[in-house]
Amino acid sequence: MLLIDGKETSRVIREELREEVAAACGKGRRAPGLAVILVGEDPASEVYVRNKERACAEAGIISFPYHLPASTGQHELLALIHECNRRADVDGILLQLPLPCGLDAQACLLAIDPAKDVDGFHPENVGRLSLGLPGFVSCTPAGVMELLRRYDLSPAGKKAVVVGRSDIVGKPLAMLLARPGDYANATVTICHSRTPDLAAECRNADFLFLAMGRPRFVTADMVREGVVVIDVGINRTPEGLCGDADFAGVSAKARAITPVPGGVGPMTIAMLLKNTVQSWRGRTA
Ligand code: NDP
Repeated sequence: MLLIDGKETSRVIREELREEVAAACGKGRRAPGLAVILVGEDPASEVYVRNKERACAEAGIISFPYHLPASTGQHELLALIHECNRRADVDGILLQLPLPCGLDAQACLLAIDPAKDVDGFHPENVGRLSLGLPGFVSCTPAGVMELLRRYDLSPAGKKAVVVGRSDIVGKPLAMLLARPGDYANATVTICHSRTPDLAAECRNADFLFLAMGRPRFVTADMVREGVVVIDVGINRTPEGLCGDADFAGVSAKARAITPVPGGVGPMTIAMLLKNTVQSWRGRTA
């Protein structure tokens, strides 16, 4: 059984980005810039933002922190987003969600210039993904695809089952897997809470992608021998973090599996940095 090490893969990607940025800056190019907008004092968001800012610094990306009070109004927030859209030294804009009550996240995400939408949440980038056009892809599904590529686990011609249909994970992941190209070309089934026989669907999978948010829900009897399991779920339990798969049981039957923590999680930040560097490359070329 192959344990897919997202932590190490993320480290390698961040190091590749750091080298690229350092080489370009050594030749006089400006460093990539990421505006990080955090509104309010949600403790989990503060941790995420701190981790993202630290990862930026390590890769040579300048982060512009905008940490605003929870009392910030919609107009003020939109004005800040417009300012970041205009700034030539900002390549990416990250708006940390959720926003405090009273602020319209959808309207704010729509205000972000799609060319700086490194989270890939803007409808233009979602549309681009569905049309197979270049654009920014949501970081978690992009991280999953990167793991498949780096571990040479191609779902081409295989049955892929995605459990979860959220806008930020399940749906874009299903689209990425089904599209033409290397490490794609899968025959994809999307499952959700109204799927009548989830176990039967999962047993059918050569590649199983779990993005449900249900601790240890998928057990060994629900998977086939030799399956590749990518577990996106991050669940807090009294015993610590765990994924959507019952790791002990499922890993005994799997050909390859991601652990939680240390699987898909660390890839999300790496993809945020990768998207920021991609934007910077296009802007400074
Ligand atoms: P959502 O809650 O938005 O979506 C969960 C999906 O799972 C829904 O489509 C839901 O179906 C489906 N689902 C829930 N229960 C069942 C069930 N019993 N049977 C079948 N389907 C079910 O979550 P997200 O997509 O935002 O996140 C999913 C998981 O991934 C979470 O654990 C989250 O913490 C984690 N995550 C990890 C990230 C990372 O960096 N690794 C980043 C983002 C998320 P329905 O639509 O019918 O309600």
